[in-house]
Amino acid sequence: MTEQKRFYILMGDCTGCGGCAELQPDYIGWEEGDSRPLLLSDVAPDAVIHELQAFCPEDCIECEQ
Ligand code: SF4
Repeated sequence: MTEQKRFYILMGDCTGCGGCAELQPDYIGWEEGDSRPLLLSDVAPDAVIHELQAFCPEDCIECEQ
């Protein structure tokens, strides 16, 4: 089974580029009219979290070790 970890977004650093929601729409959503992403789940497989961390230009994606 793939290991799942808790993760979260540091909203204070987020510029609202929308990339994370496009990259992983099963885990990160975007309400129409909002300027920031919305976590749809607070756990995700390691690979998903790493992909988000590599992609986010502001290093907003954090996970528990
Ligand atoms: S990729 Fe990073 S900066 Fe862009 S919306 Fe997501 S959390 Fe914010």
